[in-house]
Amino acid sequence: MLFYWREAERESSREWTVPRALTEDFSAFQRCMKGTNAKHFNRCAALKGRVGESVACSIYASRPSPCREFSASLENGVRSTRCDEARAAHGLEPLRRSDWAGLAVPELPPGTRPAIPGEIPAP
Ligand code: SF4
Repeated sequence: MLFYWREAERESSREWTVPRALTEDFSAFQRCMKGTNAKHFNRCAALKGRVGESVACSIYASRPSPCREFSASLENGVRSTRCDEARAAHGLEPLRRSDWAGLAVPELPPGTRPAIPGEIPAP
């Protein structure tokens, strides 16, 4: 999980800072989350729990930008192929709408997607 090194530096222009202790140098301009630079057993140091049972990011509010750009399948009412593939790599089924029960996820008719703020509706 690579990101620009300054994301782990406190800056007044940003509301969050990736905890530096959970990161390591990767290149002159990049850091990565500890545990994600291994060739075989990749597991982010910030991930707590057991995959397939119950897991969570322990630094969710301070996670790096690549994690912020990744949406879970149906999180916003849209299926994520990358999420489905990542789950399949761990032997897990794709997320279903019912997995989001009790959470604020819009119910959309098949083939539709949530409106994008500022979008002009189709006629
Ligand atoms: S979301 Fe959290 S646990 Fe997952 S890779 Fe990012 S920092 Fe690690």
